[in-house]
Amino acid sequence: MRVVLIGPPGAGKGTQAAVIKEKLGIAHVSTGDILRDNVIKKTEIGLEAESFMESGRLVPDGLMIGMIKARLAESDAASGGFILDGFPRTLHQAEALDRLLEEMSLSLDAVLLLAVPDDEVVKRLCNRRVCPSCGAIYNVIACPAKAEGICDACGGRIIQRDDDREPVIRNRLAVYRERTSPVLDYYEKRGLLHTVDALEATDAAMRMLESIEGTKA
Ligand code: AMP
Repeated sequence: MRVVLIGPPGAGKGTQAAVIKEKLGIAHVSTGDILRDNVIKKTEIGLEAESFMESGRLVPDGLMIGMIKARLAESDAASGGFILDGFPRTLHQAEALDRLLEEMSLSLDAVLLLAVPDDEVVKRLCNRRVCPSCGAIYNVIACPAKAEGICDACGGRIIQRDDDREPVIRNRLAVYRERTSPVLDYYEKRGLLHTVDALEATDAAMRMLESIEGTKA
């Protein structure tokens, strides 16, 4: 299965994608995670992307498209299917993805939109903490780590992402509305878009996929 997961920052894309990856055994491709890894390793991509990410702006399309092209060519994604988390975020990226899939003789099965109100996004992200070592996600109120600042899963140090501070979150929401909304229209016109209530359970996106598959069968 090849799925795109779209939603504002804080909608829970990473959490929902992890459930889908586990259930379907497909590659979870998160552009945010790939970029953060590059920033930590100070690669050429990381050095170029860092200032955009810190201020909540989008990394330029050219860099993103090159990055996704290389990742989708890897055997797990190319032959086993994938869930794209955080890409495409602009119309230009959506069109490039279509061309790329066409070259690979592949197509998308579904695009899931995780819908969530702005106030909920701000509340969730201000309270979000992450473990950069293993990717585990915590919430200081709803789901804190057992020992403060220490990851339950790997013992790594838990941090607050620089872009999870309120002014940056507001900017990320504005960018989402301006740049990513056209992507929703693009997929809606092609009958691929399905809306999932992100306030529901963490497996809501997976259940939507199951119901789409049921409809197709
Ligand atoms: P995320 O973890 O998906 O919220 O992404 C964190 C940051 O990485 C975003 O605020 C952007 O600066 C950058 N980013 C991730 N994916 C993309 C993309 N498809 N296009 C442009 N920038 C991206």
